[in-house]
Amino acid sequence: MALRTPLVVGNWKMNGLKASAAELGRMIEGYGPELRWKVQMAVCPPATLIQTFCVVALGSRIWIGAQDCNAQQSGAFTGDISAEMIADCGGGLVIVGHSERRTIYAETDAEARAKAEAARRAGLVAVLCIGETEAERLDGRAIAVIDSQLSGSVPDGATGSNLVLAYEPVWAIGSGRTPTTAEIAEVHGHIRKWLDRRFGKEGERIRILYGGSVKPANAVEILAIDNVDGALVGGASLKAADFLAIAATY
Ligand code: PEP
Repeated sequence: MALRTPLVVGNWKMNGLKASAAELGRMIEGYGPELRWKVQMAVCPPATLIQTFCVVALGSRIWIGAQDCNAQQSGAFTGDISAEMIADCGGGLVIVGHSERRTIYAETDAEARAKAEAARRAGLVAVLCIGETEAERLDGRAIAVIDSQLSGSVPDGATGSNLVLAYEPVWAIGSGRTPTTAEIAEVHGHIRKWLDRRFGKEGERIRILYGGSVKPANAVEILAIDNVDGALVGGASLKAADFLAIAATY
């Protein structure tokens, strides 16, 4: 068995109504045995659809997750949901520290780390996002920013079974722009070495996804880069045909 099974995660952001379960149905139909043994697929719909999607996906092996969670188990946090609530719906993973959470809601590395710890507490896999802004890249600080986000947000006790990292350059998200293959290879190689130093052998099991404007047209090139273990996909995960085409790259 491969050390790291490729993983393709769809982040639906604030998109989707109950009728979107039909799109999930088309994904399930297309996720046949020839794809299933090569790549793991996951969909993270808005919180309102997690339960419905978990029921629709039952027995399909498509994993359903959430886009965020509160670090606390329960309490006076109006509007939030906990990792335990996601698990209770049947969810298996949760995205934490997405750049939209960091930018729009001023979420810090420490908060992303606490959320990743909450995910582990609830038995979920945390998909922890890190990535530099365009200004930071242009300043030559991309690697330094990644290092500081890794130190600040990766929890102790991370394993290949409770953590997935997602390198998402902020400027590539939803923009149609992507880094060069050399730039992606540099960052992923750097993260891989960091994980090896911090977690030794177990670090080798932690998957590193690339995210930022992945679509069927560029997936072949991006997913073939060294140390890219899959993709976190926003816009192109909303349509079954596109999302399946990305997964079928494997
Ligand atoms: C994302 O939201 O994590 C993302 C990568 O979005 P997109 O694929 O649309 O750039």
